[in-house]
Amino acid sequence: MIVTDLPELPCRELVELVTDYLEDRLSPIDRARFEAHLTECEACRTYLEQFRETIRVLGRLPEESLSPEAREALLTAFRGWSRL
Ligand SMILES: [Zn+2]
Repeated sequence: MIVTDLPELPCRELVELVTDYLEDRLSPIDRARFEAHLTECEACRTYLEQFRETIRVLGRLPEESLSPEAREALLTAFRGWSRL
């Protein structure tokens, strides 16, 4: 598979890209890396599901630029999931 030749996408970077992913703004390469990571990382699949659930509840994407506090809360929650 071609995707195995791409640089690994760390979980932290996936968190940063999820908005662009859902709005289909990623480059084809980043999209491939994103999806390759998802197939291997259950924590990030959970994260994406939670993010989609958030959008369903809000009826839209969360704010484009998260406040530092909100971003930190997200990342803290994310670290919690990855320990499960
Ligand atoms: Zn991950």
